[in-house]
Amino acid sequence: MAAKIYKNLIGGEWVESRSGQTYENLNPADTRDVIGVFQRSDKRDIDDAVAAAAQAFEKWRLVPAPKRAEIIYRAGQILLERKEEYARDMTREMGKVLKETRGDVQEAVDTAYYMAGEGRRLLGATTPSELPSKFAMAVRMPVGVCGMIAPWNFPMAIPSWKLLPALVCGNTCVIKPAEDTPLSTYNLVKTLTDAGLPKGVVNIVTGFGPDAGAPIVEHAKVNAISFTGSSEVGRTIGEVAARSFKPCSLEMGGKNAIIVLDDANLDLALEGVLWGAFGTTGQRCTAASRVIVQKGVYRQFADRLVYRAQRLKVGNGLDESVEVGPQINEQQVATTEKYVKIGKDEGAKLEAGGKALNKPEHAYGWFFEPTVFTDVDGKSRVAQEEIFGPVISMIPCENFDNAIEISNGVNYGLSSAIYTKDVNRAFRAMRDINAGITYINAPTIGAEVHLPFGGVKSTGNGHREGGLGAIDFYTQWKAIYVDYSDKLQRAQIDTE
Ligand code: ADP
Repeated sequence: MAAKIYKNLIGGEWVESRSGQTYENLNPADTRDVIGVFQRSDKRDIDDAVAAAAQAFEKWRLVPAPKRAEIIYRAGQILLERKEEYARDMTREMGKVLKETRGDVQEAVDTAYYMAGEGRRLLGATTPSELPSKFAMAVRMPVGVCGMIAPWNFPMAIPSWKLLPALVCGNTCVIKPAEDTPLSTYNLVKTLTDAGLPKGVVNIVTGFGPDAGAPIVEHAKVNAISFTGSSEVGRTIGEVAARSFKPCSLEMGGKNAIIVLDDANLDLALEGVLWGAFGTTGQRCTAASRVIVQKGVYRQFADRLVYRAQRLKVGNGLDESVEVGPQINEQQVATTEKYVKIGKDEGAKLEAGGKALNKPEHAYGWFFEPTVFTDVDGKSRVAQEEIFGPVISMIPCENFDNAIEISNGVNYGLSSAIYTKDVNRAFRAMRDINAGITYINAPTIGAEVHLPFGGVKSTGNGHREGGLGAIDFYTQWKAIYVDYSDKLQRAQIDTE
């Protein structure tokens, strides 16, 4: 059966790319399975999409926010009805297991309900004026056309974090999904149009980064950029956006650590480390890729982690018994292989995994063994650089202070975690770990949509997704003064 052809959505019409070029979206668990044929777009398609979004903005910004919110709420309801179908599509195109892709769709539902609620808030501020018979307030205004560039690891949840707050605030959007996972973003956008979103308010343009992503960032009529992806690409996007003073939200890498102290509940910590490190095959920006274990329990914990990692079932995520899916593509497996070699050369002890899987059931996919390095030096490359694969480095530590120092000793600062029963240490960790997210007695993954998501240092540029941070990014403040005194009153001058 010929694979289905998916088109771009521009100005409410499903259209082919101007060049007529397309590309195939393949299943990373079985590359013989072609999920669909998607448009390979370029600058001309982006120009069309931005023009449509700019035109739609003039009407959309005037729709009352509670009405905009009703469409978003309805989209959340439709997503729930289609949850299983969309989760299966996502497992096929992205690889993570069904349990996780159901969670990814659910995250978009949660975001829809949360942002729909914002439609009746979008709170500003009223404040007294220093002058008599004068009224002052600060209101949130939409930014205009927002450009969004998404990664492949949360192909519906992350686009929902970008699109839904932008929409409730009255913006219009052009989104480019990652080349490996366009279908899930397509499903989200289709749901929004089915929910009644007017033409041109959301436009989806598929294709590759330099061809279809870069023109969004460069376009003079795109007023804000939201990007999630690698630090390398994020740096370029930030530089280009800065040239035209465009607000730009960058969410990039992590090198997240779980600290396990001697007094921790080790059974709980073990479950947390396994889930944090090997959930989504280690391909989350919040994945636990370091585990810092105090010396009293270090060896015992290492033995248990190795034992469990070696027994995780790796395979096609559509099989409900599978625990770890494939990596997204060949390059990602090559990166993991590269870091396993680096780790060995640096003298870390490889105690589990370390190879791409080559059993017959893995022959057509990008599978890698869950990998555990022990006795890793916190300063070595495997402990410093983001791998984005199923690899965890165990680092021994002396005590609490030493653990915090190792945890903070990287260039990233997204997520973090500590397992301890000591309430004083838990609170010190909340204060002293330098990261955007800290979990106590839970792994580094599991963000909820109404809390701020983002990190410090090279993880981002200070913005937050989720929660009110998203509303802040997709609005700009306007100060309004209403003088009803019927005379000229000069602030700071007419003080008597
Ligand atoms: P990853 O390594 O996780 O794939 P990337 O940063 O390469 O992360 O990709 C994240 C998103 O950025 C994808 O949608 C990709 O197409 C896009 N992208 C890649 N290069 C560029 C670029 N030069 N300009 C704009 N977007 C880009």
